[in-house]
Amino acid sequence: MSDRPIFVTEPSLPPLDDFIPYLRRIWENKWLTNNGEFHRKFEAALAEYLGVKYVSLFTNGMIALQVGMQALRITGEVITTPFTFVATTHAIHWNNCKPVFCDIEPDTYTMDPAKVEALITPKTTAIMPVHVYGNPCNHEELRRIADTYGLKLFYDAAHVFGVRKDGVSVCSWGDLSMLSFHATKVFNTFEGGALVTNDENLKKRIDFLKNFGFANEVTVVAPGTNGKMDEFRAAYGLLQLEIVDGEIAKRRKVAEFYREGLKNVPGIRVLQDISGVKHNYAYFPVEVDAKQYGMTRDELYDKLKRENIYSRRYFYPLCSDVPTYRSLPSATAENLPVATKVAKEILCLPMYAGLTDAVQAEIIKHIVGI
Ligand SMILES: *Cc1c(COP(=O)(O)O)cnc(C)c1O
Repeated sequence: MSDRPIFVTEPSLPPLDDFIPYLRRIWENKWLTNNGEFHRKFEAALAEYLGVKYVSLFTNGMIALQVGMQALRITGEVITTPFTFVATTHAIHWNNCKPVFCDIEPDTYTMDPAKVEALITPKTTAIMPVHVYGNPCNHEELRRIADTYGLKLFYDAAHVFGVRKDGVSVCSWGDLSMLSFHATKVFNTFEGGALVTNDENLKKRIDFLKNFGFANEVTVVAPGTNGKMDEFRAAYGLLQLEIVDGEIAKRRKVAEFYREGLKNVPGIRVLQDISGVKHNYAYFPVEVDAKQYGMTRDELYDKLKRENIYSRRYFYPLCSDVPTYRSLPSATAENLPVATKVAKEILCLPMYAGLTDAVQAEIIKHIVGI
């Protein structure tokens, strides 16, 4: 048994000494928030790194989701996935819209475009899919459906930082994408988030909305909220940008080590890289087939816990199974067969850049030797 708890993730941190001069600069400027020097620099640097035209920084991903929906003027019904962190569904609820759950694909766990059209009604105004675990959605199909029916396409891109498909940044897809920089994500600013778009007018509207609706000192153009990121975290984000590629490379090694160690375990299904995709290895999900493996997912979860290893059952329960949403017409297991099965079998193993070979070997040993 490991003498120190092994958690599902551990944040990447830039060298503390590199941060001190930035702090000194903030103290000199006495400019702590509201579009300061570091905020402007970080927005520009992120836009370049992500390969998008416009970035709007936020205090967290949840507020960014809520503001993004306002900026796109999404109303009525929104087609989304139940296999996500509850923030996606909550944002729809907080905007007085109705979530309509669409099933997922078995090989990427992302929204199944073949099941979207049957869910569209005259009240549908948007599709909000999630690139879950960093797996890109089937964008071509989703874009085609959104264009055919005149719907907005707003991606929850919280997991997809740095991911590219055929050389194109996945964050650049759709009308708008939301990023989260929460401590548990591949790229963190302690807490933080962003909206990214290639539409200049949309970027303007987002920036008004995240600052109480102020367009200038005296003009309040909309009922906004306060979603701003401060200088401290913007400065820290600049340093994170310098290390993120190296951290993703380390995560890749961790993923390869797991794939090798788990490849011949009956009943443990591991996804491989998707061809043409540059992954970020945000999570390491495995599916546990109880019959073949001889143990249910929950039994394996408990077994690892007894060994001081804390895997997580992301994303169980499904959003369609939490009390606020479970009575929605689309929240049934019949409508969501794949998501229902995956939520029962999925387990996310510890995955972070600093995971050592020795600790990983220990985790694999407990999974292999049942
Ligand atoms: C983390 C996460 C969010 C919320 O982001 P916060 O920055 O924690 O508010 C939203 N959606 C998904 C899929 C997430 O994983």
